Amino acid sequence: MTKTQAGTWLYKIYKMLSEITMQFQLNRKLVDHGVAMCYNNDPKLGAVMVVDPEKKEFLGTIIHECLHLVDWKMPETKVAKLEKQLMRKLTDRQLTNLLKRIVMYHTKGA
Ligand SMILES: [Zn+2]
Repeated sequence: MTKTQAGTWLYKIYKMLSEITMQFQLNRKLVDHGVAMCYNNDPKLGAVMVVDPEKKEFLGTIIHECLHLVDWKMPETKVAKLEKQLMRKLTDRQLTNLLKRIVMYHTKGA
């Protein structure tokens, strides 16, 4: 994956975040690192993302769940592969901005 391709995926994530109502939550009792849920298999009808803050690869998990919401039908293997590639290619600044955006607009009482 090139830097430009990584930027394109980041743009898709931002576009998705601007189009859907997504609520971001932390939960230490998850079995998985994170989970994305949406109503009627359509993230545009509303979605919830829950991430365990104590598990490793916290930021990668956020990217992973975002990718599910970008394309709800994308297979798990492809999401996992893209997550790894994006975590390698995105800059610290890009990751910081994404995290900021999620915390500012998708958490209650933050
Ligand atoms: Zn997944």
